[in-house]
Amino acid sequence: MNEITAGVGVSPQDTPLVYVLSVPGRVGVILPEVDVPETPLPTNLLRETLGLPELDELTAVRHFTLLSRKNYSIDGQFYPLGSCTMKYNPKVNEAVANLQGFRRAHPLLPEAQNQGALALMYQLQESLKEITGFTGFTLQPAAGAQGELTGMLMIRAYHQDRGDTKRTRVLVPDSAHGTNPATCTMSGFITETIASEPSGAVNLAALKAACAGEKAETLAGLMITNPGTLGLFETQIQEIIRIIHDAGGLVYGDGANFNALMGIVKPGDLGFDVMHLNLHKSFSTPHGGGGPGSGAVGVGPRLVDYLPGPIVAISPGTAGGAASSPYVFITPPKSIGKVKSFHGNFGVLVRAYTYIRLLGKKGIRRVAEHAVLNANYLKVLVKDDYPTPFGSDRHCMHEFVASPDLGKGITTIDIAKRLIDYGFHPPTVYFPLIVKEALMIEPTETESKETLDAFAETLKRIAEEAKTDPGILKTAPHDTPVGRLDETAAARKPVLRHKMYMED
Ligand SMILES: *Cc1c(COP(=O)(O)O)cnc(C)c1O
Repeated sequence: MNEITAGVGVSPQDTPLVYVLSVPGRVGVILPEVDVPETPLPTNLLRETLGLPELDELTAVRHFTLLSRKNYSIDGQFYPLGSCTMKYNPKVNEAVANLQGFRRAHPLLPEAQNQGALALMYQLQESLKEITGFTGFTLQPAAGAQGELTGMLMIRAYHQDRGDTKRTRVLVPDSAHGTNPATCTMSGFITETIASEPSGAVNLAALKAACAGEKAETLAGLMITNPGTLGLFETQIQEIIRIIHDAGGLVYGDGANFNALMGIVKPGDLGFDVMHLNLHKSFSTPHGGGGPGSGAVGVGPRLVDYLPGPIVAISPGTAGGAASSPYVFITPPKSIGKVKSFHGNFGVLVRAYTYIRLLGKKGIRRVAEHAVLNANYLKVLVKDDYPTPFGSDRHCMHEFVASPDLGKGITTIDIAKRLIDYGFHPPTVYFPLIVKEALMIEPTETESKETLDAFAETLKRIAEEAKTDPGILKTAPHDTPVGRLDETAAARKPVLRHKMYMED
């Protein structure tokens, strides 16, 4: 992109701050003559100087267009960020979410005037029930982590309702997503970590010990991510669920990355009591910038009465009938209450519904098949330089976690930064914690063989560079506006204003 230059002779890489472009006295608009009497503005509301940049319109347009090109996006490049499912988002989803009846529907409209939106939510609940084998669904939670909180609060309500107030311990395998132990703590539980075997499987002996004898009486349940964050399917899952159920606990499944399983395995059939799905990962919807998400939560028979309300149902009197307003909101009898204002992020629900209808039953299964195929293809292509220490002799699911050891002091962060020079978004790094120098790669099902080949070639080239020119990895990235950031400081003390930037 270096050759693309703006009118003022800058490449997109070094777009200047808008203030630098300012020319005193230059204007972007010519206002018409005032044809009403002038009234002075109240001086106490006016600042002496505002210091706005003075630009013509074309320069301003170019400035912001060049800035926008600095955004890394799935519509622009490959985005193999592990545990994030950065798949392609079909544009038809946007067209449907943009239909007036959906986009402009007010959440406080009476049910009878909002039947289309309610019908969509109902059908989505039903589709998700069919795909997962669960008994009921809430579409309220705004994100995966909020879905987890919702699920764990239901588990807590379930035990308390039965007078089982001693049940405060929740087991979490060490291959779990970081949000799992955090959710346990936020829901008032005590997290107990269960170690993984070198194969990536849960250590069954440790699990049994944590549920044995008197310990069973204080067990609230288990939170498990399957496939785990190592990208491996937990084959002992039914045995694990049986052990927890025998001890009186319930099983929470983290289904954020459901694209490895959809259409193939139903978690409800496996015995899971509750699971959230990230509709904004597995069921499309652009994400990654902290925008609206949806962590829909499915439950089995034990928890169905505890779901947050309201959820959409068909009015009993009208089931199958010809009533004009059959869809109604109901609140389950023992509901834990609302977890989100109104009905969740409705626009995301429309996208998920459209995506499911677009794919159909066969398509949903093909998503899973291709997600797994793509990850395994990539894993094998790069395995000599990027081996997977856990489960190296097994097939992975939708992602794999490599532990590169390229020598010459080259670390995972060097590899990640060098990938940026080659136009790729880095994979997830240093997570999960149990893998040394972890590089967590999730290609997703929507990438072509050519893209996967190009990415593998680049990873191999970086491994070569580690031998021949390690310095170039240590100083990467080379073409970005800023080099290596103090990422903690950037997150904790963001500099959001030009003025502050200048003063500092
Ligand atoms: C992304 C993810 C979450 C959290 O989802 P958010 O929508 O970011 O809150 C939880 N668990 C797993 C396995 C995930 O990949």
